Parts: sequence; structure tokens; C-alpha cells
Amino acid sequence: MDISVIIPTYNEEANINMLYERLTGVMQQMALKYELIFVNDGSKDKTISLIKALADQHEQVRFIDLSRNFGHQIAVSAGLDYSVGDAVVIIDADLQDPPELIIDMYKKMDEGFQVVYAKRKSRKGESFFKLWTAKVFYRILSKITSVSIPVDTGDFRIIDRKVVDVLNSMPEKHKFLRGQIAWIGFNQTYIEYERQERFAGETGYPFSKMLKFALDGITAFSDLPLKLVTYFGFIVSFISFLL
Ligand code: UDP
Ligand code: MG
Repeated sequence: MDISVIIPTYNEEANINMLYERLTGVMQQMALKYELIFVNDGSKDKTISLIKALADQHEQVRFIDLSRNFGHQIAVSAGLDYSVGDAVVIIDADLQDPPELIIDMYKKMDEGFQVVYAKRKSRKGESFFKLWTAKVFYRILSKITSVSIPVDTGDFRIIDRKVVDVLNSMPEKHKFLRGQIAWIGFNQTYIEYERQERFAGETGYPFSKMLKFALDGITAFSDLPLKLVTYFGFIVSFISFLL
């Protein structure tokens, strides 16, 4: 198997078929052996029946149906565990990540890269609030971590089997895959793209999930919060002593 494509899906009934068409077009153009792994992350709409219908009709389609909503990072991890391709693509189901980019990403691997991620030059159709919080988050994160995690980059990327094997062996419970992949090393590069608007449906990442995700990233990759609490403890003890 040359390529596995992992697609985490949460309430994406309006996008599944279109995504399938576009991905299949790209895969056929590349003329490689491929599998499309849909991971249903506890959707409450018709996502899973659409996926099952595709899997019945096309041998390249495989799926994982999670028992409940575990969140995007766990859904992708389940797909990584299940994949067998020599290279693995992670892509969103809502077509914000254009599938056609996979062709260039795959080509870059031939130049000796094991990770090619897609960096957002611009983002269409996102609220000012989301753009601003994402921008601030990535900049803070890169200031306080020792691992250099690329800014303005999501999980849309292609990674070599070697990297997948390391990821699968990491015991992290609170996953922050883009940080873990940066930490793993090997040769990494990126291509730039314009992030599209969601094709249909609504975001599955409300503010509460975004905040949890941001905190997982910070606590997993920086000891600054722990240090701040320690300093604060010293200061409080010192003031108490004086009083
Ligand atoms: N997703 C998921 N589980 C969740 C939330 C989202 O698997 O709990 C999937 C979703 O279907 C999509 C990808 O993760 O394929 C990114 O989510 P979304 O597009 O909702 O986030 P946004 O692009 O708005 O940040
Ligand atoms: Mg999206």
C-alpha cells in the first residue's frame, strides 16, 4: 500500500460524498495503491451510514466507527493505528484542506522529507475571533516550548511510515499530534496553501474544545505553567513569612 488517507469525521454528512469524489480524483491521478480510512468520531447525523455505503461500493474505503465522540486528535490516532500505507495523509473532512495539494506534498517526499505539512497562507471564512485566537495561540506556544512547533499549521500533512510507527508507540493520553510530530524529528518541510471555507455543515470545534486543545498543547510541550505556579508559591510563602 503506497498511501493511506485518514479522515476524522464528526457530523460531516454534507461533506462525505464530495470529499470522496475529490480524494479519489487525486488518488487516481497519482496512480498509486491507496486506502481511504474514514474515522467516525461519534457523529449524531448520517455520517456513518454514508461511510458504510462508500465502503460497500469501493474496496479502497475502510472505516473505524468509534463508540462515542472522543475528539479530533483521538480520531486521527485511531486511523494512524489502523493504516498500513508507506505514507500517510491526515486531512479534514470538510474540504478546508484541498485534497489536490496531496500531489505536491507527496512529490516533496521524494526530495528526502519524511514530513511535509501544509502551512496556511490565509484562511477563508473563519471568524475574526478564531483567526485572532489561533494566531495568538501559535505564537505563544512557539515562544514557550523547546520543540519548535510550526505556526499556522494544522494536522493536514503527509508523513512517512517511520514517523507513523513512532507516533503509534507514544503513550500520550492528551494528544497534540502536530507537536508530537515536530518533536519526532527526521526531515520536515512544508508547502503553503490557502485554507478554504468549509464546504458544508458546521465546525465541530466550539470554543470549549479549542481551549482544551490549546491547553493540551501547552501543558504537553512546556513546563512554563508549572514554573509559574512554583514562583507564585514562593512569592506567597515569602509574603506570609513577612506578615
Ligand atoms: N472532528 C472530529 N471530532 C471532533 C471534532 C471534529 O473528528 O470532535 C473532525 C471534523 O469532522 C473535521 C476535523 O476534525 O474533519 C476538523 O474539525 P472542524 O472542521 O470541525 O474544525 P475547524 O476546521 O472548524 O477548526
Ligand atoms: Mg474545518
